[in-house]
Amino acid sequence: MEIHDLTIAEAGDRIRKKDVSVSEIVSSCRAVIAAQDPALHAYLEVFDDAQTEAEKRDEDLARMDEAERRRLPPLFGIPLAIKDNILIRGRCASAGSRMLENYTAPYDATVITKLKNQGAVFLGRTNMDEFAMGGSTEHSAFGPTKNPRDPARVPGGSSGGSAAAVAADMCLGALGSDTGGSVRQPASFCGVVGMKPTYGRVSRHGLIPMAASLNQIGTLAKTAEDAEILFSAIAGGDDFDATAVKDRNYELEVRNYELKNIRVGVPKEYFGKGLDADVEAVIRGAIQKMERAGAEIHEISLPHARYALPAYYIIAPCEISADLARFDGMRYGGRRSEVGGRSINLYEFYANARAEGFGSEVKRRIMLGTYALSAGYYDAYYLKAQKVRRLVRDDFERAFEKVDVIAGPTAPTPAFAFGERSHDPLSMYLADVYTVAVNLAGLPALSLPAGNVARDQVSLPVGLQMIAPRFRENALFASAKAAEKILSVSRALL
Ligand code: GLN
Repeated sequence: MEIHDLTIAEAGDRIRKKDVSVSEIVSSCRAVIAAQDPALHAYLEVFDDAQTEAEKRDEDLARMDEAERRRLPPLFGIPLAIKDNILIRGRCASAGSRMLENYTAPYDATVITKLKNQGAVFLGRTNMDEFAMGGSTEHSAFGPTKNPRDPARVPGGSSGGSAAAVAADMCLGALGSDTGGSVRQPASFCGVVGMKPTYGRVSRHGLIPMAASLNQIGTLAKTAEDAEILFSAIAGGDDFDATAVKDRNYELEVRNYELKNIRVGVPKEYFGKGLDADVEAVIRGAIQKMERAGAEIHEISLPHARYALPAYYIIAPCEISADLARFDGMRYGGRRSEVGGRSINLYEFYANARAEGFGSEVKRRIMLGTYALSAGYYDAYYLKAQKVRRLVRDDFERAFEKVDVIAGPTAPTPAFAFGERSHDPLSMYLADVYTVAVNLAGLPALSLPAGNVARDQVSLPVGLQMIAPRFRENALFASAKAAEKILSVSRALL
């Protein structure tokens, strides 16, 4: 086994036992990056000081006795990749956009402060669809990322760079962001675990905005245990983010949770038209295995499930049109005072900065959102979509009266080929059909590798989505860890 194959839990254990140094782990990941990333393009930038940081951790370790080493936080010395929309002080954070190509973050996002406090090492920032809009990374202004399982296919998105980096062992874990599936769907496409926390569980201070009522920072890792280690490191209230809930202590909740017989709800609406037959077979097979292992399986109904996607694609663009108004070329973006040798007025200045800075998907959403929010249309679109959102949320609440978690597919298909959907926004949006309802309802959910399907002689991963009630990440991780054991999908890929 190579060092970069280790999980976070295994690497942390070996660091504490002095079996392996932080420098060795970091250089092992960097060697994979040097070998693989020119072809995969998971990273937009690899930080050149990662090795020096690693040496600092090793110096700290050398000064500690065994008891001190045992008390080290779980992410001490662990090399991580960070999605390009999360601010790291002094680093560029471009959100995959030309608009922020030259933007340097003036402060650390709260999640970054928390990871730094644990002693994590940052390897680089990862590629993404521009401003997290998309499901394939094809909307990145800096070129797409390739799926490590099949470079002819997309890694999913928008956190495709983070998912590919974890899948190809180019880091031990990563952060992403999930507004409508952007952590779970790429995790499913790349064969890793991707987790989106409850709305309000993790601070978004220092996350470049996209649809503020839907968005959470999530974790990508090789195992459910690792995803949980990362999640517990970033969870918790924050003075800088009023939506981050303060009075919930995840550690305590874990200890209090005992899961003897998992009651798993399987929504019949998630197995209808549009679900790939091979993906369905993998998901049904996984659920059967869980049943044989002692889980109670209940068929449930989420009657408004089919309205989640249209409601999301009204609400998200509306919020995006407001969130992205700040990118006017004055505070962020290129400042051009003349075009074609002619000096321009203020209106032209704004229009020019946004025309040049934003890509087509971002412009499409700003236009859709502005339209849906305009006088006369607000009630018909935005207000209606918010009412649908309530019904979607109530469906889940009713379902959770009978079950601990809900299980179904993460995405309707395995990873698709480049170009297959990029010219047809609606078909791209359909990739989110099973993930967006979770964001509308603010629930925690994750995608767990459940098996593989064959496409063009290549074996492609399929993710099982598990969803839990609000703030029940303990139930989510407990059932995911139990399911992971019996599904035992091999991590080895490249
Ligand atoms: N693919 C979805 C979209 O394009 C989800 C994006 C996200 O979660 N950031 O809106």
